[in-house]
Amino acid sequence: MKVVIDHAKCQGHAMCYNYAPEMFELDDDGYNRMEPFQISKGQRVIAERAVEACPERAISLVED
Ligand code: SF4
Repeated sequence: MKVVIDHAKCQGHAMCYNYAPEMFELDDDGYNRMEPFQISKGQRVIAERAVEACPERAISLVED
């Protein structure tokens, strides 16, 4: 499974980082500019929480 950030939707609320600082990195302005990345099954619950937490719906989980 991949986590995909829609950079056009991200408004820098940093909720993703607040929920999962071990999973996300923000730029100096607080925006998530990460390229798509793979997660393990064990990280799925954390990623789902971040998806729900993002007010802009900028985070998606994509099955491989
Ligand atoms: S919570 Fe959503 S809008 Fe905020 S920084 Fe993360 S991806 Fe961007």
